[in-house]
Amino acid sequence: MRRKIVLIPTVILLSLIAIMILFLFAQTIWDKSGANSLGQHDLISAAPSEAAVTPPPPSPTPEPTPVEPVFTEAVWVGVGDIMSHSPQLPGAYDANTGVYDFNPFFEEVKDILGQGDWIMANLETPIGGANFGYTGYPSFNAPFELAEALKNAGFNLLSTANNHSLDKGERGLLKTLEHLKELDLQAIGTASSQEEADALIIAEQHGIRMGLLAYTYGTNGIPIPTGKPYLVNLIDEEKIRADIARLKQNGADLVTVALHFGNEYQTTPSESQKTLARALVAAGADIIAGSHPHVIQPYEVIEGYDDMGNEKRSLIIYSMGNFISNQRGDSKDYGVIFKVGVRKNVTENLTTLTDIEAIPTWVHRYKPDRSFRYRILPVEETLAAKDDSLLKAGDYHQLQKDFDMLIQRLDSMK
Ligand SMILES: [Zn+2]
Repeated sequence: MRRKIVLIPTVILLSLIAIMILFLFAQTIWDKSGANSLGQHDLISAAPSEAAVTPPPPSPTPEPTPVEPVFTEAVWVGVGDIMSHSPQLPGAYDANTGVYDFNPFFEEVKDILGQGDWIMANLETPIGGANFGYTGYPSFNAPFELAEALKNAGFNLLSTANNHSLDKGERGLLKTLEHLKELDLQAIGTASSQEEADALIIAEQHGIRMGLLAYTYGTNGIPIPTGKPYLVNLIDEEKIRADIARLKQNGADLVTVALHFGNEYQTTPSESQKTLARALVAAGADIIAGSHPHVIQPYEVIEGYDDMGNEKRSLIIYSMGNFISNQRGDSKDYGVIFKVGVRKNVTENLTTLTDIEAIPTWVHRYKPDRSFRYRILPVEETLAAKDDSLLKAGDYHQLQKDFDMLIQRLDSMK
């Protein structure tokens, strides 16, 4: 008997719930159909009063979604010095064709370089053509084929402001620029006229506009021709600050400044390197790409704020070492590829650095015949694979030791 007594209210209760659900359902449809004529604000404010009088609906209506920011991403890849010492030439030369082939230098790191959108190196030699003769240290001039190999390896940006910019004088500098232009390789830091020097270099990748600047501490005592300061950008903090500001005013989302500075063979940055690099970051530089010491120096990540108060992450790489050279010993045969993620919030027009990866490289020099051959090897990958037919057990042992030392050095200012 008790069952019946219980049953009757249950039926009534169920019917009531059914009516309520139907009512709610109708209400939801009405809201949706009315949504077009209502502002978003009205829709949001309508929700709480409904919730107050009814139990939670079986399937809750989704929260109105806020405007999702649109992001775009690109990758900056940077390496250190591209040197052209005379022992690097004979092994790359084909006497039958009279042509140099430097592509093997970059073959083993091409995949890593290819992960970048902006791919940048410091070209520390004029590429003036055969008329100047091909010479190594101390007054460089490399064959045109070196520029071709850089192009094939994926590079699209070359800092040409360094202490060797004027090794073959003004004519050598101008010929270099001409050759790079032919290959659509953007030179930064040297120019053939005042107009060219004043022009802003902004390279856009995936909708992100990167401003590019390059300066050197000097030109090995070779005077810059009178009245032609535009040929080589010299480090001048006030000028660099003004150039950064000009780039930002003209729509650069971020700015990379290549600096040829520091002391040769020093594995830590000097006080003046630190002072200048940090001052330029404070002035708005996002990436400082350092070179010249011919050895790797540590890098710093600076977390701060831009002038609008937005969080900003900047990177100072004091020295990326030798990417390719004939220099050996005391870690001069090592370099590093920096791979830096860049993300732009298109909706809010904010750009920031994301992942920063330092990939040490080693210049493997070997002698299969009378002349040396050179290959840039990614150290960690080479150690992991352990299958390189040109390397011996001793090489791997040394590589492992050096790799640990380099990682420690790189991270010592993090
Ligand atoms: Zn240098």
